[in-house]
Amino acid sequence: MVDFSYIEAAHDRISSFVHRTPVRASRRWNEEFGAELFFKCENFQVTGSFKYRGATNAILQLTESERERGVLTFSSGNHAQALARAGEVHGVAVTVVMPDDAPALKIAATKGYGGEVILYDRDETTRESLGAKLAEERGLTVIPPYDHPWIVAGQGTAVKELIEDVGELDQLYVCAGGGGLLSGSSISARELSPNCAVIGVEPEAGDDICRSFRSGTLESVKDPVTIADGARTPSASALTFSIIRENVSEMLSVPDDWLIKGTKRYAETLKMIVEPTGCLSFAPILGGTRDIQGQRVGIVVTGGNVDLARLAEFWSHG
Ligand SMILES: *Cc1c(COP(=O)(O)O)cnc(C)c1O
Repeated sequence: MVDFSYIEAAHDRISSFVHRTPVRASRRWNEEFGAELFFKCENFQVTGSFKYRGATNAILQLTESERERGVLTFSSGNHAQALARAGEVHGVAVTVVMPDDAPALKIAATKGYGGEVILYDRDETTRESLGAKLAEERGLTVIPPYDHPWIVAGQGTAVKELIEDVGELDQLYVCAGGGGLLSGSSISARELSPNCAVIGVEPEAGDDICRSFRSGTLESVKDPVTIADGARTPSASALTFSIIRENVSEMLSVPDDWLIKGTKRYAETLKMIVEPTGCLSFAPILGGTRDIQGQRVGIVVTGGNVDLARLAEFWSHG
């Protein structure tokens, strides 16, 4: 089990390598929603997402011989870029296994940070089996995107900073894919702001943690169709789900339309680019389904990696 001492240790370990990202607010939004809203802007983190926190924490906890042999992951998203960059900074070789139909932009970004990309054919093998085979053959340490105490502890440092910077909160909204960020955030919130309600948010199509939360057993949703590409993971893990069950007050799901609205409103009002997955946390408020009158509300903005042409296309239809 991960407790707050893991997050404090992770924070000491990584703080000279990660940005203490800004907390932004808008007087206009505070008036519109009758509340005080605090946005923790991890879209400004190194590599454009909070994943750099967990990745850096993991790289810094390898033994000397593990560092020399290198690490491997099989995620094509923000975790791959974060791990590639953390490896580059700390002199650890990073191998990333990706499907051969992964977006060229993601492959290029990972290679740009010095990662070695190994492509596989989806019809012939799975990333897990290829990843396990390569890790075994080459003696690489597998660093998964969420299912690991080092990753959960690293991700928990963002909300630790948020509450240290703005004080206690009444409600905290956090996006959830595999639940690494949500579980780490919930531990920090319980410790630093014990009366704060922690609310996890998923896309409607990929609401596996919402279902698991209701049923009490780990459920999965395979290949959900949603523009929230950082939250397409089929399920949480035993580790993240047990922490979520213990600390999270509520799970919500939101339609993709609200995420598009979020990207637009972040650009207009806070003058920042947020990827659709990063808009999950604000979506229940924008969609008008939450009453936050008079509350102090924290919102974790998770990432800003989105193809601008794609964003322009979303906006032209909305
Ligand atoms: C990975 C990611 C998430 C989800 O994080 P989990 O730890 O998998 O729940 C949310 N937003 C962005 C931008 C991400 O990259």
